[in-house]
Amino acid sequence: MKFDDYQYQRPAMESFEAQYKAYLNDFEAASSFEEQCQLFEKINTLRQEYTTMSNICHVRHTINTKDKFFEAENNFYDDTSPSVKALTNKFYDLLLNSRFRKKLEKKWGNQLFVIADLSLKTFKPTILEDLKEENKLTSEYVKIKAAAKIDFRGEKYTLPALTPLETSKDRQIRKEAATAKWSFYARHAKAVEDIYDKQVKLRQRIAQKLGYKNFIQLGYARMLRSDYNDEMVAKFRKQVEEFIVPIASKLYERQKKRIGIENLKYYDEYFRFASGNPKPKGSSNWIVENAAKMYRELSEETAAFFDFMRHNNLMDLVNKEGKATGGYCMFIPKYKAPYIFSNFNGTSGDIDVLTHEAGHAFQVFSSRNIGLNEYFWPTYEACEIHSMSMEFFTWPWMELFFKEDTDKYKFAHLSGAILFLPYGVAVDEFQHFVYENPMASPAERNEAWRNIEKKYLPHRENDDNDFFKKWRILAKAKSYFYYSVLLY
Ligand SMILES: [Zn+2]
Repeated sequence: MKFDDYQYQRPAMESFEAQYKAYLNDFEAASSFEEQCQLFEKINTLRQEYTTMSNICHVRHTINTKDKFFEAENNFYDDTSPSVKALTNKFYDLLLNSRFRKKLEKKWGNQLFVIADLSLKTFKPTILEDLKEENKLTSEYVKIKAAAKIDFRGEKYTLPALTPLETSKDRQIRKEAATAKWSFYARHAKAVEDIYDKQVKLRQRIAQKLGYKNFIQLGYARMLRSDYNDEMVAKFRKQVEEFIVPIASKLYERQKKRIGIENLKYYDEYFRFASGNPKPKGSSNWIVENAAKMYRELSEETAAFFDFMRHNNLMDLVNKEGKATGGYCMFIPKYKAPYIFSNFNGTSGDIDVLTHEAGHAFQVFSSRNIGLNEYFWPTYEACEIHSMSMEFFTWPWMELFFKEDTDKYKFAHLSGAILFLPYGVAVDEFQHFVYENPMASPAERNEAWRNIEKKYLPHRENDDNDFFKKWRILAKAKSYFYYSVLLY
């Protein structure tokens, strides 16, 4: 069935909750392992019905945030998902304390119980209203960015549509495009900073209600980090600082020489080659045709997967007005269908999406019959193993997309993987600062980011654009934003 034919209907919450509660009561009272197994299946299916509708809504809403119907539906899930979470936590509690736990564990594996245990640490009924508020703040943020219309030389651009100009061969165009973008952020700085500030304080309140000192440990539990802690993460950051930052700095030095620029400004950072950045050599349809050829040749399994995605219209790839920014992969359990969302804009990033997000989608497609909601995805960070591996598995086919630019693409892609590490740990260290100091003012947060940036991104010269610095900080709010949509 094609995505367009998936029936959307708002879940009737009263009967949904009554049914869920009835199953939970039966599960608790069950007198045999077999009986619990049957109820387990029923609960699974019921949860999938809600997730299916919520995820269809998420896709439709993010494709066009101006659509009033799905905006209202999105608000509905912001409001109801916390109470579904409450029921699922009740289920986890019953699972962990089941008389038949040993047998259940043998059947479903220990990981389910690890997830259940972590999940219980993230919820109490007393935070229900706070979670609704948290969802709302997230939605507000998505809308601000989706609504961007940026003036550049007399034309209006969305944020993703501006990217090719920001990496133009002409330095003046790069500078003007970047200035236009940061002016947009400047206009919305107050609104976004407010959302961020509210979110931080709200999370502090939630953490305290759950008995944590601050949001850090709660954040770790939400991300299902079951086998490493903040001390280990701090050590990893230290290693990146010691070993990777010097390599990154060398790469930026090489970049300066290549593009013939003495001072690498923020508007030069993503301009990698004097002859221009590598670009896919055709339209979005042409890209998809070539991706189909690539996945056919890569393996039988990827061939079946990509055919499924294409034939069922499970991708919305091209940037357009009103569409949420960024890219994601989603799973719609009732139809056992992954969905890929992206903002093609004619840059090499278009191919990154078709390898990265398709890596996620191929993983979840391969897990679609696993029979357990908790196992459709691995935990959040483990998800990236699949997506990033796919980026590299597909290297032998890059000529299909980049022709004479293939070597440039491979160089930029591989060095990009290294350059990301200092940036990624800078974001991580910043988030630790923010949630350890929830009362810090926006100015203090900005100061903290500048210091962290000096440590991990010493090549960066931000002298002449204050909003560039600021937005980098505000953009951090994003990192937790999509977590809520994956699992209920
Ligand atoms: Zn990913």
